[in-house]
Amino acid sequence: MLLRPALPVAVSSTLPLISHLAAVRRRCSIAATGMAGVSAASPAAAQIGSFLSKKPYAPPSWASHLALAPSHTFSLGHFPTPIHKWNLPNLPEGTEVWIKRDDLSGMQLSGNKVRKLEFLLSDAVAQGADCVITVGGIQSNHCRATAVAAKYLNLDCYLILRTSKLLVDQDPGLVGNLLVERLLGAHIDLVSKEEYGKIGSVALADLLKNKLLEEGRKPYVIPVGGSNSLGTWGYIEAVRELEQQIQLSGDVQFDDIVVACGSGGTIAGLALGSKLSSLTAKAKGLGYAMNTAEELKFVKDIATATGIVLDPVYSGKGAYAMLKDMADNPSKWKGRKVLFVHTGGLLGLYDKVDQMSSLAGSWRRMDLEESVPRKDGTGKMF
Ligand SMILES: *Cc1c(COP(=O)(O)O)cnc(C)c1O
Repeated sequence: MLLRPALPVAVSSTLPLISHLAAVRRRCSIAATGMAGVSAASPAAAQIGSFLSKKPYAPPSWASHLALAPSHTFSLGHFPTPIHKWNLPNLPEGTEVWIKRDDLSGMQLSGNKVRKLEFLLSDAVAQGADCVITVGGIQSNHCRATAVAAKYLNLDCYLILRTSKLLVDQDPGLVGNLLVERLLGAHIDLVSKEEYGKIGSVALADLLKNKLLEEGRKPYVIPVGGSNSLGTWGYIEAVRELEQQIQLSGDVQFDDIVVACGSGGTIAGLALGSKLSSLTAKAKGLGYAMNTAEELKFVKDIATATGIVLDPVYSGKGAYAMLKDMADNPSKWKGRKVLFVHTGGLLGLYDKVDQMSSLAGSWRRMDLEESVPRKDGTGKMF
C-alpha cells in the first residue's frame, strides 16, 4: 500500500456487472434506511453533543463480510462533505468533473485524514492509550490532523517529523501545519531525511514508544498517513456517504473517482468500497512527478479559474495528472462524469509562499483624491 505522491499510479477496481449492480443497489437502499442511526448523512450528526462523541459503528451491508470491522467510531469531521460541479478549463467534449470537498471536513482538523482518524482514535481510546505517536514529513497534514484529534480526545500527541539535514537541529518555526501542532502543544521530534531513510518510520515510532512505556505512559502508534487496515475504513465509510448523496440527488452517477495518492489508505478504501458497493465508478489514485515551480503555477491557475485551492503536494499533482491525461487521451474521458476527491492540504501551502510571490495576484495602492469628503458610518471605526 505504499504509493509515493510523486509517482504516476493508477489503481482501478473492476467494473461489476450491471445486473449484479441492480441487485446490490436494492439491498443497499434497504440497508441505508435501516441504519439511519449510524449513517453519516443522518441529521443526527447536527445534534448538540454529537460532534466529538463516540458512537457504535456498523459497516455498510456490502462491507459487513470484511474481517476486523471496527465496532466504534468518533465523530471528528463534518460529514457529508459537499459535492459540486467543478468547471475546469479545457475539458474534453462532454466530460464533466465534479468535486467532493473533503478539504471542508473541518478547519484545523480538515482533509482526508479525519476519516481515518475517526476509527484510529476510537481504537486508541478503547485500548486505554494516554498518548498517540505518529510520523510524517515536516509539513505533514496527517500529523497536524492527528495532533488536533488527539487533543480533542484528551490524549497527548508525539510527532516524529522528517526534515532536511540542514534544518534538523533548528527550531522548525510556526509555518503552516506546524503552527497548529505547536499551538496545541504536540511534542515534536525532528529527524533528518537520511536518518528516516536508514531507520524507517516503524522503528522510529517503536523507539519513541518504548521510551514512553518506560516512563509509564500508554502510547498508541498510528502509522504514516494513518494507512493501515483500520484507517482504510475511513474511505470505505466515505463510499457509503457518497452512495447516499447520489441516492438523494437521483440523477447524478459517476464513471470515475479520482484522488491523489500518498500512503495509499484513501485509494484503498475508495477502491474497495466502489468495488463492493452499488457505485458504478472506478476509483483511480493519481500522482505526478512535478517540480515545485510547475506545481505552484498549476495550483495558482486552478485557484484563479475556479476558486478551488489545491495543495501542491497531493491534490495539485492528482488534478494535474487527471487534466494531463484528459488532454493527451480525450477519447478515453469523452462523455464521462468524473468525481475528483479534494483531500485538503491548504495549510501546507503556507510553506511555499516565498516561491509563490511571483505568481500571486496583483495589488495596488488605492487611488485617493485628497478632496474625497468623509462620510460618517454608524460606529467609531467607520
Ligand atoms: C495524506 C494526503 C493525501 C494522500 O492520502 P493517502 O491516504 O496517504 O494516500 C492526499 N492529499 C492530502 C492533502 C493529504 O494530506
